[in-house]
Amino acid sequence: MTTIDSIGEFGLIDRIRTATETPQQPGTIRGIGDDAAVFALNDTEYGLISTDMLLEGIHFDLTYTPLKHLGYKAVAVNVSDIAAMNGLPTQITVSLGLSSRFTVEAVDELYAGIRAACAAYKVDLVGGDTTASRSGLVISVSVLGTVPKDRITYRNTAQPNDVVCVTGDLGAAYLGLQLLEREKQEYLANPDMQPSLSEERAYLMQRQLRPDARTDIVHELRDLDITPTAMIDISDGLSSEILHLCRQSGTGVVLFDENIPIDDQAHLAATEFGISALTAALNGGEDYELLFTVRPQAFEALKNHARITAIGYLTADPAQTILATRAGQQTRLRAQGWGGTGA
Ligand code: ADP
Ligand code: MG
Repeated sequence: MTTIDSIGEFGLIDRIRTATETPQQPGTIRGIGDDAAVFALNDTEYGLISTDMLLEGIHFDLTYTPLKHLGYKAVAVNVSDIAAMNGLPTQITVSLGLSSRFTVEAVDELYAGIRAACAAYKVDLVGGDTTASRSGLVISVSVLGTVPKDRITYRNTAQPNDVVCVTGDLGAAYLGLQLLEREKQEYLANPDMQPSLSEERAYLMQRQLRPDARTDIVHELRDLDITPTAMIDISDGLSSEILHLCRQSGTGVVLFDENIPIDDQAHLAATEFGISALTAALNGGEDYELLFTVRPQAFEALKNHARITAIGYLTADPAQTILATRAGQQTRLRAQGWGGTGA
């Protein structure tokens, strides 16, 4: 018998993908292997579908996760996979596994968050499933979306010399999780304690508890008439995602560590925890920012964009996957994913 650990999550998905038969439906354009599957919709657009599941004890801890935030996050992480195809979401279904300790009011709170996300991303909640659970709360969301055919952006279509771009900042969600975990341990040791989470840390906690999908960037790229050559969302950490994009595109990459965008609050918290903010940005995960590549000419129109940062470029040699340091040293990019929960 083979343990799943020995081949890993990605090894397992590869095994399922290889054994999956070629499509029987002419409308199946792209199956397993990208952020969302792609199907025929109409003359000008493709349909997109993706699904993501959140499990209590694996992806979230209800001792410090407000249910309203959790509902929002369950939708946002799904919408993020549609954005990663350069698409926009249209409908979701929500399936729940509920243990007996859940009250009607708790479910109402969860749905308040789900509805807030539906309003924010302009998606309709159109169905789902409800079942009992013996092992805590399970939330599984599926999302449908659309993308103009000429704007669809896969993971495997990047080219050498493309500029590697990232939206927003990285590492904050991981550091937010460290703060929340530390507060939990202190609370468990001394239940009379008052929480000391300060206002300044609100950004880090919000990044962990209530992330947003970057549909704003999808709109902006359309307004600028720029279509990335490849795109993926950052759920498992920058290192892991850039290596997926390179492997699937057959390219190498050089990233510059000093260019990787990290918020001041993340730097402060990293110092406090005695960890490297850069490592949090590379391996922390759950930032739900977009990682994309554009032709060098197209980057001209993005170079002054406040929320888009160029962090490196792609190379022709697939064996070259490098992080270059300020001092001119080069290290190999490795997908460690130590904070990632594998969503
Ligand atoms: P993401 O992090 O973008 O949600 P994943 O790493 O979860 O992507 O999945 C990568 C690809 O593998 C996707 O195309 C997804 O649909 C597919 N996939 C993941 N798990 C399974 C599974 N159990 N069966 C079939 N396909 C799967
Ligand atoms: Mg994804």
